[in-house]
Amino acid sequence: MSGDVRLVWGEAFMAYRLSEEHPLQPIRVKLAVELIRELGLVEFAELVPPRTATDQELALCHSPRYVELVAALSDPARRSVVSWEDRAEAGFASADNPVADGMHEACATIVGGSLMAAEAVHTGAALHSFNPAGGLHHAMRDRASGFCVYNDIAIAVAWLRTQGHRVACVDVDVHHGDGTQALFYSDPEVLTISLHESGRYLFPGTGFPDEVGAGAARGTSANLPLQPYSWDEPLLAAFEAVVPPLLREFRPTILVTQDGCDTHFLDPLAHIQGSTAIWPHIGRRFHELAHELCEGRWVATGGGGYAIREVVPRAWSLLFAEMVERPDLARGVIDPEPFTPGPEAQARVWAFLDRDLQQLSQELEVPLHLDRPDS
Ligand SMILES: [Zn+2]
Ligand SMILES: [Zn+2]
Repeated sequence: MSGDVRLVWGEAFMAYRLSEEHPLQPIRVKLAVELIRELGLVEFAELVPPRTATDQELALCHSPRYVELVAALSDPARRSVVSWEDRAEAGFASADNPVADGMHEACATIVGGSLMAAEAVHTGAALHSFNPAGGLHHAMRDRASGFCVYNDIAIAVAWLRTQGHRVACVDVDVHHGDGTQALFYSDPEVLTISLHESGRYLFPGTGFPDEVGAGAARGTSANLPLQPYSWDEPLLAAFEAVVPPLLREFRPTILVTQDGCDTHFLDPLAHIQGSTAIWPHIGRRFHELAHELCEGRWVATGGGGYAIREVVPRAWSLLFAEMVERPDLARGVIDPEPFTPGPEAQARVWAFLDRDLQQLSQELEVPLHLDRPDS
């Protein structure tokens, strides 16, 4: 089923480090690639180093004024030319997005990595590609947000649009993919789907079923929130209820996925209780759907993941093992047991999922069904 697979990795990714104390640490990406190597998975892929995106490429999703401001803030010698007001307005007045030396170049290199992944799949040089450093889905057109300076995944999607693609972008990070959604909210040729912990409890506070796209793009934005304590069964039931039917209805020419692994029980930033056992399932389904609908074209990125050593390397190795069709090599890194909450929490999780899925189904005017395993 698989053709050539590309894995984008280079030490240059290590430069996207916003501070020593920051929860988003590039070492997560390095450790993931090390485990991918250790498991022997890298032999089934071509490893390519990232390039740095040009300002013109960044302008596919960001205003030139914002790019210029980030470049100025990145340079200690030029930083003071930016007023406090402009700095705050661009999202750099919060602890989430501190000003870091070189952040413009470092983030442009993550964007370059996602563009290379998209280019390889578009030209047919590869059938599937993975940029584990990518997935910075909160960055907005004129504003950094949620650890993200430039939205690499949105820029890759925007570039694919210029090549004539109809793009489906599925985001399974525990946080709502708000930046990506906002950038394509009025584009009927881009479907964004986000499954995430409910915005009632978690940053960025958006991603409800009534956010369905604007104007001609109505129906091309889909959000299914999950309750705190959701574990593997409801996570996968939610995925199955939404992702395959909406992709089949939309019929994309390419699938782009944001594979944040902060849905894990051990992740310190959120309250979802997934295990790494969801990854073989999610990876296999993305892979199958890409072959079913897009002649195999699948571009995957990383995303969130703050249990840096405990979870991220295993989650992304499991995803990558599905991409190269060697799940057997990664089986040993699956959590042995799901992290199931008590009966009351279980009942609450299913009840809210049922309700939210029904609302989503009504908003999109597409029948969506929850296939709940027997309890
Ligand atoms: Zn394949
Ligand atoms: Zn996240």
